[in-house]
Amino acid sequence: MGEEGWFCRGAEECKAIAERLKQTPCPHCKVVGMLIRHGFLYGFDASARQRTVRAQRVFCSNRNRRRGCGRTFSIWFADKIRRLSLTTGILWRFLQRAVANNIAAAIRAVDCRLSDRTWQRIWKRFDLGQSKIRTALCGRCPPPELPPRLPANPKRQPAAQVLAHLEAAFPDAHCPIAAFQQTLGTFFL
Ligand SMILES: [Zn+2]
Repeated sequence: MGEEGWFCRGAEECKAIAERLKQTPCPHCKVVGMLIRHGFLYGFDASARQRTVRAQRVFCSNRNRRRGCGRTFSIWFADKIRRLSLTTGILWRFLQRAVANNIAAAIRAVDCRLSDRTWQRIWKRFDLGQSKIRTALCGRCPPPELPPRLPANPKRQPAAQVLAHLEAAFPDAHCPIAAFQQTLGTFFL
C-alpha cells in the first residue's frame, strides 16, 4: 500500500487511457510523447481457470534516439490485487469474514485455490498496511463513529474499523477495495 499507480475500471477505460498515451507525460521522467503500449500483464484469478488481463504495460521509449527514460509502468485493472492471484472482490469477502469470525473460517468461506499460508500472508500484509489505508481514507471522509458489527475477537477491532471506514468512503461501490484503488490511485495491498 502507499505506492501510486494508474488504474482503470476495465478493458474499455484501459483502451481509452492507452489511446491518450502520446499526449500523456511519463510518470517517471515527465517527458510527453514517448509512452507506448508494451503488452499486457496476465495472471490467474484465484477462482478462475483462465488467465485474465491484470494490467496494460507501458514503456517510456528510449529506443531509436527517442527521449524517453526507458522505464516501464502499468495501468492496473482496479479490481485486481498486484502480485497476487486475487481479485478485490474475493479479498473483500475474505477480510470481512476474517474480521467477523477468524482467518480459518474466512479461508473456508472464500473457497478458492490459494493455500492457507498464502491467505495468512495476505492477512499480514493487510494488517501491516492498516494505518496507511486509514490515512488514505481520511483524505476522503472521516471514519465512522462505530463499526457496524463488533468482531468476535476484540483484537480485530482496529481491522473492523478500517473495513467500516472503507464502506463509508465508497457506499455505492460494488467492491470498496476496487473503488479505493481506482479513486485514490493507490494500491490497497
Ligand atoms: Zn519516462
